[in-house]
Amino acid sequence: MMSSVFLRRFFSRTLNGPWNFIAGERCSPVDSSGTMKVTEPATGQLLCDIPISGPNEIDRAVSSAKAAFKDWSNFSPRERGNHLTRAAEIIKNNLEDIASLEVKDTGKAIWEARIDVSSCADAFEYYGGIAPTLVGQHIPLPNGSFAYVTREPYGVVAGIGAWNFPIQTCVWKAAPALASGNTFVYKPSQFTPVNAVVLGEILDSAGVLKGAYNVVQGEGDSGSMLCDHPDVGKLSFTGSVSTGTKVMNAGAKGIKAVTLELGGKSPLVIFEDADIVNSVKGALMANFLSQGQVCSNGTRVFVHKKILKPFTELLLKQTKKLKIGDPFQEDVTVGATIHEAHARKVLQYIEEAKKEGAKVLYGGERIQMSGKFSEGWYLSPCILTNVNHTMKVVEEEVFGSVLCLLEFESEEEAIQLANQTRFGLAGAVFTKDIQRAHRVSKQIEAGSVWINTYNLYPTEVPFGGYKMSGIGRENGTWSLDNFTQTKTVYVEMGDVDCGPLYSED
Ligand code: NAD
Repeated sequence: MMSSVFLRRFFSRTLNGPWNFIAGERCSPVDSSGTMKVTEPATGQLLCDIPISGPNEIDRAVSSAKAAFKDWSNFSPRERGNHLTRAAEIIKNNLEDIASLEVKDTGKAIWEARIDVSSCADAFEYYGGIAPTLVGQHIPLPNGSFAYVTREPYGVVAGIGAWNFPIQTCVWKAAPALASGNTFVYKPSQFTPVNAVVLGEILDSAGVLKGAYNVVQGEGDSGSMLCDHPDVGKLSFTGSVSTGTKVMNAGAKGIKAVTLELGGKSPLVIFEDADIVNSVKGALMANFLSQGQVCSNGTRVFVHKKILKPFTELLLKQTKKLKIGDPFQEDVTVGATIHEAHARKVLQYIEEAKKEGAKVLYGGERIQMSGKFSEGWYLSPCILTNVNHTMKVVEEEVFGSVLCLLEFESEEEAIQLANQTRFGLAGAVFTKDIQRAHRVSKQIEAGSVWINTYNLYPTEVPFGGYKMSGIGRENGTWSLDNFTQTKTVYVEMGDVDCGPLYSED
């Protein structure tokens, strides 16, 4: 296994590039249409300047993955799994360094980055372990004939990711794709390019076949070229609905399998019998992690009228206590927004909501930091009251720390309002009534529903959306279904029976 000392040297030169990772090597693109300037959200200063991959470079990455596919798919599943398990060990042994890079890339607080990176080790361990369980079926047929069904990889999988959980998004795709015998080309978000390359070094040192995992850097055009490449067999996308639509169209053109992990506007329903402290903890987890830039956030918080007052008081008290600032400081809970344009978009939603009659109970402003953090965009977590479903802030995904507090009086009303959205990624119910908890969970139109908690994503559990939040599932064994296709082999044990088509004379 690569020693930590070696990796440390690697980390120290990570930010100097080169930025692509092809055939087991960090490399610069063979063609490039310019560079993208990546800023560190915490400071607003330049983090790295990365060449944008052009069509020849995309082709080189896909060709590398295609060449590796022949051997990688023929490794026994256990052998593939062993390499992934080793990658999990390397991640665990270097967690602090990888988490630090994640903080530089995203602006999220270090305590959160550690959880993200640790979840990547979980994913490699899990898929490494279950790779050998990917078995087929034997189907007995008349006259001793039979068919067997095997699960085969697609070939080259293209992964494209968003910026809010960069390393986790990449691993949630790479681990199951590689475990099931595919090879992989990943294009990270142009805002968070760093750890995808680090993963390349980690997988290489874990013994993963060179060329099985590749990274190309670029913006939307590079992603689009990757989706359109004829040698890519499967598209696995995480991002916005509007880009997801384009990726799906690209898939349609080439009749490629497509998985989409898109946005959300999830409901968090808190009944009158719920434990108030746990409900407030749930609301904080559902809204203020990663500066609110979480796809599954429960931003529509429905609270039963009877407990609205005590709930609101405690929520306000706890929100005021959140510490905003340098994401590397251990006691900081809220870091920096990804970049200025996004912060301005979040603030704009709040401004428009105010014009429509919403009341700002707390926050929703830029906190001007001093010194080296003065160019970072730090927003105070926001609680809006006096909101309703005709407002944009309640209808659309804000993707920032903006909690909309809504009240309800009956279970039917809560369910109806919870489902009043084009999204269906997640939701939650807080109640002590076990029957109500399951009754309401069943009726919430979403891919994940938490009962008495929020925003937990263990690797073993599938995650993905209903309605416009996506197609397909990541995590658990369900992810393997999305990275494999079945092959049926029909075996005739007697003579061919073709009826009157064939006659003896
Ligand atoms: P985005 O759609 O703007 O970009 C996502 C990725 O797509 C980027 O890498 C981008 O370069 C690439 N891209 C852009 N145009 C493309 C094209 N035509 N073809 C191929 N790729 C293209 O999204 P974002 O702003 O990076 O991320 C925020 C969104 O992601 C939010 O809506 C959030 O809810 C969603 N998200 C969903 C999940 C999930 O698991 N459901 C997880 C994280 C984020």
